[in-house]
Amino acid sequence: MGVLGADGSDTAGTEREGVTKFHLRYTRDAPLAAARLATLQGWRQILFDLGLIGQEATDSGLIGFGNVSERFDAGQKGQERFLITATQTGHKAVLTAKDYSLVTGWDLAANRIDAEGPSPPSSESLTHAIFYASLVDVRYVFHGHSPEIWSCADALGLPSTARDAPYGTPEIAREVQALLALPDCRAAGLVVMGGHRNGVISFAARAEDAGDILIRTLARARGFAPTPKTSP
Ligand SMILES: [Zn+2]
Repeated sequence: MGVLGADGSDTAGTEREGVTKFHLRYTRDAPLAAARLATLQGWRQILFDLGLIGQEATDSGLIGFGNVSERFDAGQKGQERFLITATQTGHKAVLTAKDYSLVTGWDLAANRIDAEGPSPPSSESLTHAIFYASLVDVRYVFHGHSPEIWSCADALGLPSTARDAPYGTPEIAREVQALLALPDCRAAGLVVMGGHRNGVISFAARAEDAGDILIRTLARARGFAPTPKTSP
């Protein structure tokens, strides 16, 4: 069993998402069967094609962004679990079964994620866990980056966390939990991450609904303030 600390290993470092600090207890394991990953694979591909998942140029070089997850059946001890794309996969046009990880437990208060699989999980796993912990009906959580949606959040009346709440902190976790307690936010199925530049998250019981709300919101944002597509 390999135990890696997120502060100094796979999930930190080159990925901007990696600024999220959490304690990772990771066990390397075999990939899941491709068929089990098909739903996530399909939607991840569409979000990549739309530019909601990809990579962007930063002062530290090209940084991957975007990740998708799916609630998994409870484990032997009844613990909550979810599948999620692995860390540092945002730049990949096509993922394989080796690019997915199974989160087998979490502790929001302690900032801890337990995971197993062929690769460590996305460093945004703790954010996904907030949704699964808060809403029992949610089975899919998609996180993408969209300058269009992010910059139009207020104009479009989208639920949003405060811009001064730094991403990956207990404050933002509490903000997300407070938003998810609001019926209007739950009905919207989407949260704009004000303190995480361009970050937006959709959530739903069905994958097609989580994907649909992201795509429809992107269309609204582009209709509101059409912008030419920029290179990554
Ligand atoms: Zn992000």
